[in-house]
Amino acid sequence: MSNVDLLYKELLSTFPKERVSRDEAILNSYAMDPAVLVGEATLPALVALPQTTEEVRDLLVAANRFKVPVVPMSRGSNIAGLSVPHEGGLVVDLRLMNKIIEINSDAAYAVVEPGVTHHQLSLEAKKNGFINHLPTATGGGSPVGNYLMRPSGNLSAKWDPDPVLALEVVIPSGDIIRTGSASFGTAGWRSRYGPFPDLTGLFTCSYGTLGIVTKMSVKLYDRGEEERLLITKFDSFPPAVEYMKLIVRRNLADSVTFWTWVWNMLHQLMISKSTVLPKEVMKEDQRTPPPGIPFGIASARLSGYKDVVDAQEKTCIRLARELGGDYIPPEKAKATYPGSWAYLNSYFVDGIHPKPGEDSTLRIGDWLSGCLVNAEPSKVLEVEQEMWRFAEKYAKPPYMFRALPFNHAREFFFAFVILVTGSMDEQKEYMEQLRDAYKNFYYEFLEKYGAIMFRFRQDPSFLALTGPYGELLRKIKNLIDPNNIMHPGVNLF
Ligand SMILES: Cc1cc2nc3c(=O)[nH]c(=O)nc-3n(C[C@H](O)[C@H](O)[C@H](O)COP(=O)(O)OP(=O)(O)OC[C@H]3O[C@@H](n4cnc5c(N)ncnc54)[C@H](O)[C@@H]3O)c2cc1C
Repeated sequence: MSNVDLLYKELLSTFPKERVSRDEAILNSYAMDPAVLVGEATLPALVALPQTTEEVRDLLVAANRFKVPVVPMSRGSNIAGLSVPHEGGLVVDLRLMNKIIEINSDAAYAVVEPGVTHHQLSLEAKKNGFINHLPTATGGGSPVGNYLMRPSGNLSAKWDPDPVLALEVVIPSGDIIRTGSASFGTAGWRSRYGPFPDLTGLFTCSYGTLGIVTKMSVKLYDRGEEERLLITKFDSFPPAVEYMKLIVRRNLADSVTFWTWVWNMLHQLMISKSTVLPKEVMKEDQRTPPPGIPFGIASARLSGYKDVVDAQEKTCIRLARELGGDYIPPEKAKATYPGSWAYLNSYFVDGIHPKPGEDSTLRIGDWLSGCLVNAEPSKVLEVEQEMWRFAEKYAKPPYMFRALPFNHAREFFFAFVILVTGSMDEQKEYMEQLRDAYKNFYYEFLEKYGAIMFRFRQDPSFLALTGPYGELLRKIKNLIDPNNIMHPGVNLF
């Protein structure tokens, strides 16, 4: 009997049978996450759906005994190829652990399980007068999966982009660890820090390679008396960066994002059922918008007391004009870009994802999600130029970018997206070419511009570049997971 057979046999006697499966059709549905351009499909040997922390512990202890690789999956919606199963391994699908355990309105946090979706948490937060951090992902993704990876989204600027407070984590030994204030039984879930080194940080950006997070407390943010969307336009990227830097550092906005014109046009499709691309976005010269359309718009979220928001809005408009940009009043924005207005308003002001279900934000094509980096403000200007050159050499239209200040504008998140339309079969060769071209240029590019990759992407050579930092992490990994069962295929270690 193989180790997987032994594990299966044990689970049949210890785990509810209806929630563990070896059925080929079911296994096939787990073979790939949405990152079609990053990873290859792989079949797991087993899938289990726990409902409690204790069930997660029993699964990990059994998998550890039989040395069967484990891939945790909260909602499986990442686009970096991170929840791809390990061949012959066990997928722990956490979607049935979907309870919002607590909304603490007094201390402004929520405690959630990993199967809770962005949409679920946003609605509950709103009911209680709060907004939570929301990526432009899919409403069906999870805050736990997303926040564990340092998210970018609707609140990235004014408040830091790290909404994680305390965790409950199960490690392969079967120990259930609570971090931050939750490590003291009576202190509750309000704080990331206790008087000891921060272990919450150890599990963030670990992509399931150290343990399974079964509870997380997350920051909620007060909605204030007034919430407002402010749209300004710019004819090039440098003044837009300066504008974003100023309004974020001076706490004039909760967040601001710059979208190039193609992205702006696609917002219409993101909220509608239409799958017809506007013909303008296929134009050869993607740097130059059609006449009458600005190069890009910056959308900012303002919130707080009404008189303060009025003053903030006035100041933002003045700064935009001083930098050569201009304000687009709401009536004009609604009439000119109805899709963008609805999308941005729902996402930034309501804090409710415009696509609440499992749907991706755009279903007419696949994103080449490779070009996601964080760079310093002056370097992000060079990154922009480099990305256009890359796209002009290797890509077909449409392509576009969005950029937003992170970390109080000490760095900018920059997402250059190439949209690949048509069927996977038709576009296979083109996608492979893009993937190869991108791989070849990536590390050189990161080094040249002092950028860091936004999310790890399955490259085992990367940790070695970090020297003693990587060595220490390897030692910690060996201590926590000596049999290397936790998501070995993600290649972090
Ligand atoms: C169209 C689109 C746009 C997107 N835009 C953005 C964006 O603007 N900003 C942004 O930040 N993200 C964005 N994303 C990414 C996405 O939002 C998140 O990656 C996603 O929400 C992660 O949640 P998930 O539950 O689907 O994670 P999964 O795909 O299930 O898991 C992701 C990784 O985390 C690990 N993991 C998951 N759950 C656990 C757990 N409980 N314990 C330990 N490890 C775990 C997995 O093993 C895997 O390595 C986008 C995604 C899509 C599809």
